[in-house]
Amino acid sequence: MPDVDLVIRGGTVVGPDGLARRDVAVGGGVVVGLAESVDAPSGALVLDAGGCLVGPGLVDLHTHLRQPGREEAETIESGARAAALGGYTAVVAMPNTDPPIDAAGVAAEVLALGAGCLAEVAVAGAITAGRAGTALAPFGELAALGVTLFTDDGAGVQDGALMRRALDYAKGLGVTLAQHCEDACLAAGGAMHEGCWSSRLGIPGVPAAAEEAMVARDIALVRLTGARVHFLHLSTAGSVELVRQAKREGLPVTAEAAPHHMLLTHAVVEGYDPVFKVNPPLRTDEDVAAVVAGLVDGTIDAVATDHAPHAPETKDVPFDEAPPGMLGLQTALPIAWEVLSPHLGPERVFALMSAQPAAIARLTATDARPAGHSAQGGPLEEGAAANLCVFDPAATTVVDPARLASRSRNTPYAGRTFAGAVRHTVTRGEAVVIDAAAQR
Ligand SMILES: [Zn+2]
Repeated sequence: MPDVDLVIRGGTVVGPDGLARRDVAVGGGVVVGLAESVDAPSGALVLDAGGCLVGPGLVDLHTHLRQPGREEAETIESGARAAALGGYTAVVAMPNTDPPIDAAGVAAEVLALGAGCLAEVAVAGAITAGRAGTALAPFGELAALGVTLFTDDGAGVQDGALMRRALDYAKGLGVTLAQHCEDACLAAGGAMHEGCWSSRLGIPGVPAAAEEAMVARDIALVRLTGARVHFLHLSTAGSVELVRQAKREGLPVTAEAAPHHMLLTHAVVEGYDPVFKVNPPLRTDEDVAAVVAGLVDGTIDAVATDHAPHAPETKDVPFDEAPPGMLGLQTALPIAWEVLSPHLGPERVFALMSAQPAAIARLTATDARPAGHSAQGGPLEEGAAANLCVFDPAATTVVDPARLASRSRNTPYAGRTFAGAVRHTVTRGEAVVIDAAAQR
């Protein structure tokens, strides 16, 4: 057994058997002991976790890291640092980079740039070459690098016959397609949710049906092909209900929701601030309630950030012209905690942010991960990879855009305070965040 080099003392472990007061000993990158009291050998780092929950490190299924191509907005390194500060020990980098991740060369470059970052960086591949929606990307060469999720995120695959072929191809390889559900014709020209606020503000709207039409089509294609689909960032009550029915039917579908769709509504667009422009757009009170209900009843499997940095010179333009997207990595857990902890215990909140997304991306102990990556998503037990998130529910997170680790500043929560704060993050046994400060 490796020597103990890190002890996390005084916390409540969110483990496979529920909550328990345990010290956690870490050595050689793995959890080597869990006990009511663990002695720290001289030279070992001791982190105080008094009053904290000690859970498996968070896993984000939906992170835009912008590299290669838009390094002024984010780099793999800066995004991974923001992730670690948010309690994440792994993120899945979305492929809508420039060039897009639609071939082994780009995927290998992103994986190489992610090596040694403060959170592990897995990658999603594009479904279609160039994300152009016309020909399939070479799934096989990407899967050989450990790519298990494929998506044209930023756009949905519009051609139903192409999506059917993609599903057959994915099923043969054992990989999962992740759909950004948006009918491009229905959404054309829209910049916010189509409803009372779009009418009042004179901003062209995107109807809920633009999302729901593609969710419904893809459920029909899952029924036809037997292949798995993961639905990205569900935002409407109708989408949640479609997924609920598909799961009742036993279809192999999973879904995620973003913190902003659990908290914010279209009413915040009132001041025309482009920081609130996001795709899918912020919807109604009823939609927000349905997304939260979907997370609570298990229809939605994961909280995913859709962290989408934009440099100020591109984002600070009139609402219609601004690119959609908002930062999310450093605020996701406090928001999820605030919204979900009245309904769910800590085990379920952590499951939505760690074990379940890790399983969807196949980053867990039993899955094929990219070479050199550790097992993510727990369970937090002896012998597990030491990927840990230490969260203090009694602390608060005050959002100051200037102090975020991202290269961009487009958080919709500037000046807001949320209940709970990430205190420490341990990635592969290294304390990369201590007392809310990144260590390198
Ligand atoms: Zn998307």
